[in-house]
Amino acid sequence: MDAPYARLEQVESGIARVLAHNPSAFTFYGTQSYLVGDAEVAVVDPGPAIEEHVEALLDAIAGRPVVAICCTHTHRDHSPAARPLAAATGAPIVGCAPLALETVGPRADAAFDGDYVPDNVLADGESIILDGQPLTAVATPGHTSNHLCLAYGDALLTGDHVMGWSTTVVVPPDGDMAAYMASLEKLRGRGDRIYYPAHGPPVTKPQQYVRGLIGHRMQREKQILRLVREAPRDIPDIVANAYPGLDPRLVAAAGGSVYAHLLDLEARQLVGREEDRWTAA
Ligand SMILES: [Zn+2]
Repeated sequence: MDAPYARLEQVESGIARVLAHNPSAFTFYGTQSYLVGDAEVAVVDPGPAIEEHVEALLDAIAGRPVVAICCTHTHRDHSPAARPLAAATGAPIVGCAPLALETVGPRADAAFDGDYVPDNVLADGESIILDGQPLTAVATPGHTSNHLCLAYGDALLTGDHVMGWSTTVVVPPDGDMAAYMASLEKLRGRGDRIYYPAHGPPVTKPQQYVRGLIGHRMQREKQILRLVREAPRDIPDIVANAYPGLDPRLVAAAGGSVYAHLLDLEARQLVGREEDRWTAA
């Protein structure tokens, strides 16, 4: 694919990115690792431990002090390069809590990084300082329970919570639709100027975009409710009706997302189940 792999792109003053060569149906062209700061830097979402990518990040760092290597969450396309980078720079690994589940849902690339060991976990609202300016954690569980966004000035690095090219995969057991919706509402209450996601282009109208994401999930929820009120249905039946013409590679992920909606609806006592079929409550 013709994408700027292993090349440093300055997206604005104080924020640059390097694209890792791990394209897939879930990662778009790949994971975008960000370099935040100027005289000193933090690396946000170092990405997969691909040698070419780690070398490109080290070239981009160009000997500057690395204050922290930050991970938004511990999917394998986000955190594994933290270790070779930490070894090469001596920088601490800071950010999301460790989390690795055995059951990882339908997306192979979203397997958890079980070797992630942070030196310091950032709680919601906690900051590290680089170039005299805070880089602040914004807890945004939903895609995973340990997901953080990171705010720098009026820019927000959104990891996988909000992506620039596709809706986020929210798949149980760790993905949680109610938490994800609450985390979207949390962003709606902020005044960020721009989002830099780990996958896809920057989001230049964040408020409008987040409203759209919330609306999209509410539409999906309504559709699922309508389908189970028509007749008891299992998840493949709901997916076939709710996602006509879906890319076959995404059917399992869509099933996971429907399941996340159903668990949320069940917790709110709007649906029930009979064996593997879901019913109106
Ligand atoms: Zn992820």
